[in-house]
Amino acid sequence: MKYIDVFLCELNKTIPLEYIGKVKYIGETFGVDGLTNNGEYNIVRDKDGNIKVVDDSEEDYIYSLINPSPLDGTSVGGTFYIVDDPNDELKRIGLKNMKYSDDEEMSYPIDCPVCGNIVDFFGICRVCGYQNSGDKEKIGDPIGPNKVTLKEAIENYKKLGVSDPNDDYCKILLKERNNYD
Ligand SMILES: [Zn+2]
Repeated sequence: MKYIDVFLCELNKTIPLEYIGKVKYIGETFGVDGLTNNGEYNIVRDKDGNIKVVDDSEEDYIYSLINPSPLDGTSVGGTFYIVDDPNDELKRIGLKNMKYSDDEEMSYPIDCPVCGNIVDFFGICRVCGYQNSGDKEKIGDPIGPNKVTLKEAIENYKKLGVSDPNDDYCKILLKERNNYD
């Protein structure tokens, strides 16, 4: 059995709790210390047997594992996807794996690496025209589905408002904008 240290504010100390697995939260960010879109969270079991989420507060709280959201109903919340599940416990509860294949589960929103707008995983951004390569894409990666690198795309976006002025879709975006100006 694996344990991780979790902070308990009422005792003002960390205590070891049984580690169940790790999930990724995809959905609306909520709470000052709640859940953040794209954040990864440990799932633990407390001494009473409750399965809990170690959220942004670094303390363990009970959330719905199927549709985690704030208890006060101020957000629609989102979905947990399995990142690590050594004993298949999360799978038995009904959580799904992060999939990077061509089924619907891969189509969850991420922040566009160029302009920060919300865009589907591997989708083409409607603001800057850049096609992302997923949430692990970073500056310095080899060129992907675009004709420019991520670094060039960011520079172009800052100067011109689109990721690649020579790209046909970006040309359409620029044209649309000019029509509204
Ligand atoms: Zn973008």
